[in-house]
Amino acid sequence: MIDSILNSVLLEFEQKKYNREIEERELKNTIYKNNPEFKTLRDNYNSERFDILKKNISGIVSLEESYTLLEKLESKYKKEAKIYLEEINRKNLNYDCNNCKDRGFVDGSYCSCLMQKLASKLYYINDSELDIPVLSEISFDIYPEENLTAIRKAHKKLSSFVNDFAEKKGNNYLLYGGIGLGKTYLSRSLARTLINRGNIVIYLKAPSLFKTLNNLRWNYKTNNSNIRFLLYESDLLIIDDLGKEIKSEANISELFEIINERYITKKSTIINTNMLLTDLKKYYGNAIFSRLSENLTAFKFNGTDLRKRKTK
Ligand SMILES: [Zn+2]
Repeated sequence: MIDSILNSVLLEFEQKKYNREIEERELKNTIYKNNPEFKTLRDNYNSERFDILKKNISGIVSLEESYTLLEKLESKYKKEAKIYLEEINRKNLNYDCNNCKDRGFVDGSYCSCLMQKLASKLYYINDSELDIPVLSEISFDIYPEENLTAIRKAHKKLSSFVNDFAEKKGNNYLLYGGIGLGKTYLSRSLARTLINRGNIVIYLKAPSLFKTLNNLRWNYKTNNSNIRFLLYESDLLIIDDLGKEIKSEANISELFEIINERYITKKSTIINTNMLLTDLKKYYGNAIFSRLSENLTAFKFNGTDLRKRKTK
């Protein structure tokens, strides 16, 4: 699932890049037409550049020499064509992202605009509802009376985590307790708040996370590193419903790898689970917990299932 979303986002950027290139070419052509001297400069630059490359291929100049020649040529061209190049830059300012000029990549890595797009798609993928409120606007009405004090405390802590996100890098949270007590609601609201502020948040249900990782192990055609990059490098990773996945040694070691990588790079993780703390530790092992617990705050959710209360 993650890989098909990744592919669709990459495709979208490919299309955008293609459109931008056409627009840029058209713009250049207009400027050439209005300024024949610019076209001459450009044509000369291209043909001299081609000459240098030809000389290198036929062994007349060494690779090093040709680099020096190309650099000289380029700086000469940039100087001579300065006013025209500046005009192109001025007219090109309507990019969605000025950082990568809508290419999606900067120096071979994902630009934050691409990561952002990907994160928001991944975040919303499990639900069609987009109306989750930000943390400061959540409604406490849904929470059971008997647990309201604890929820408010959790909400306060999580709000301060979000508000000092840069300072509190590496903090981890565990939301545990019975089903239907609003853990998902609270963590998705938190995700929404951080995404609105431009952070990259990946929110995944444990079964879908592990299914994707399993598929990756067996499908070498998919670009494994892209997905791992997202899981390791996103500003916040939320794993919802931990314990609902198919239980296997492979899944446990995948989880350890994710937690460990994020621990090393000081990235925060939030885990929601219906399991008890003791069962969680017993099942997933101490290795995972010692990594997580370095900076862990756990919130217990008590009370009656929200869905049951609604039907009363
Ligand atoms: Zn960008």
